[in-house]
Amino acid sequence: KRHPIIAGNWKMNKSLREAQDYAVRLLGMLGELTEIDVVVCAPFTALSVLKDELEESVIHIGAQDMFYAPNGAYTGEISAAMLVDVACTYVILGHSERREVLRETDEEIAKKVKAALKAGLTPILCVGENLANREEGKAFAIVRGQVEKDLTDLSADELKRVVIAYEPIWAIGTGKTASSEDAQEMCAMIRSTLAGIAGVVADEINILYGGSVKGDNIAELMEQPDVDGALVGGASLEPEGFAQLVQNAV
Ligand code: 13P
Repeated sequence: KRHPIIAGNWKMNKSLREAQDYAVRLLGMLGELTEIDVVVCAPFTALSVLKDELEESVIHIGAQDMFYAPNGAYTGEISAAMLVDVACTYVILGHSERREVLRETDEEIAKKVKAALKAGLTPILCVGENLANREEGKAFAIVRGQVEKDLTDLSADELKRVVIAYEPIWAIGTGKTASSEDAQEMCAMIRSTLAGIAGVVADEINILYGGSVKGDNIAELMEQPDVDGALVGGASLEPEGFAQLVQNAV
């Protein structure tokens, strides 16, 4: 059985002080938890503070993006090796906010996924349709296309280390969660797409749901057979609320 993952995505929030305070408080509440892998995905600037507080603990550190080249003349970018250096083990890639606001393409995201795996990081690849796609009945085709385009040229050993996060854009930050049936249906479709790409290892790949996940809807989502955890935005920003959400998922 897949080991569940709950990842918090702070997005563009928190000063160094706030990040350190958060880490200390979260560790106090979840420092002994082993039933679920808990990941905190912080802005680049806060990662070294999280390394100091969390590196030796059960709580994993993640970034929210990276660049695919190993080093060189890429002003403003951060490499996979730099993330490993600050004790990151996870990196969110292809978040819908980066696809929409920063115009990231599937070609770029595929290169990032490959580079992350090569460096030993676990990529959390985000996929998901927008409201217009869903109303036009294109949600499945859009998500299947993202999965296929973003996971190209990978071995079975690499594929089984990937984590997918299904985040319907219309559910992000809106308070509107997909019903657990809709989440299950899409996560099952993603798993069958993965089976087409990766064969039997598709059963080992963790698929998370994201979009207005809260302490009071996580348990129902976790009951779905193809939902292996969650990627949590707003409800991860306060350590007490996030710890409670994680406890409700156990
Ligand atoms: P919310 O949980 O705030 O809806 O954000 C979801 C998300 O985008 C996580 O990556």
